[in-house]
Amino acid sequence: MKLPTRLPVLADSAAIEQAALLLREGRLVAFPTETVYGLGADARNPAAVQRIFAAKGRPADHPLIVHLSNVAHLDEWAINIPDNAIKLAAHFWPGPLAIILNKQPTVPVEVTGGQETVALRVPNHPVALQLLQAFGGGVAAPSANRFCRISPTQALHVAEELGDTVDLILDGGACTVGVESTIVDLSTERPRLLRPGHISYLQIEAVLNTALLLPPSLKPTHTASASALRAPGMMAVHYAPSTLALRYRAEQLPVLLRELTASHKKAGLLTYREVIPENPIAQVIQLSNHADAYAQALYASLRQLDQLQLDIILVEQPPESEAWRAVNDRLSKATRAY
Ligand code: AMP
Ligand code: MG
Repeated sequence: MKLPTRLPVLADSAAIEQAALLLREGRLVAFPTETVYGLGADARNPAAVQRIFAAKGRPADHPLIVHLSNVAHLDEWAINIPDNAIKLAAHFWPGPLAIILNKQPTVPVEVTGGQETVALRVPNHPVALQLLQAFGGGVAAPSANRFCRISPTQALHVAEELGDTVDLILDGGACTVGVESTIVDLSTERPRLLRPGHISYLQIEAVLNTALLLPPSLKPTHTASASALRAPGMMAVHYAPSTLALRYRAEQLPVLLRELTASHKKAGLLTYREVIPENPIAQVIQLSNHADAYAQALYASLRQLDQLQLDIILVEQPPESEAWRAVNDRLSKATRAY
């Protein structure tokens, strides 16, 4: 493992003041939110925002979410704000929900990836909120990882991912939600769910009293067989470990293990039920069978397995029910279906 060159700093009030100063100077600050750690920059400063893209290796047309200290700032960033936005903000902010609205003309195109819309969120984490209050403005912040890699849920993960390309890393402990925010688009007539998260579409529908347009259901878009074990890294992936990761259904495990043993592969396994380690499983991580607790620990567990020099990471397919939608969405991008 590469040793981090910049270590996280305990997020006390002095460190938060220092972070706000750095943001004002156009520098990058990583900070905890309840979802994942964010890589923040002054959202009004195009040069600062461009540093985020450089640090992450993220293509410039991927828009960023702007974080605000409270809903009162909404109209500094958005126009034509519908009642639905006020309802969702009143109900879920601060919280793990980002809302897409039509942008104020003054919002830099660097933030929105050239679009006429902007994503806004008030995060529910004391450190994030203190930082936003101390800074006073909007903070553009994607997850604090290299593009397409696993989002960080602990300060040390940020250090491993970004090193000294970030000017300060505030350590506020492990994130409690563990997967990225739910995103709902209110910039057009019909509200649309863009990304599932801890707040489910059913909760949003209940508040809006209207049906959301949903993304296509989560079908495995690709499958892999034993040949994939010999040809890793061919897929367009996101949220992914560097080690080849395969998602399997419980009944497939015996065959899969025989195949791996025959090809002398060393495997790690991530599951939510008891699995007795056997050849060729070098390490088992057993997570909760409750979706929220599983989500909280998912990325840290994938990172842990990714550092063990395994040939393959096996991930048991969780239930395909609504409660697991956000987890299944991330797993469909981090792993291939066996
Ligand atoms: P993150 O990677 O967590 O920073 O989330 C950024 C994601 O938010 C993007 O990849 C988009 O899916 C979504 N997003 C942000 N801004 C917009 C926007 N203006 N319009 C549509 N989607 C957006
Ligand atoms: Mg991200």
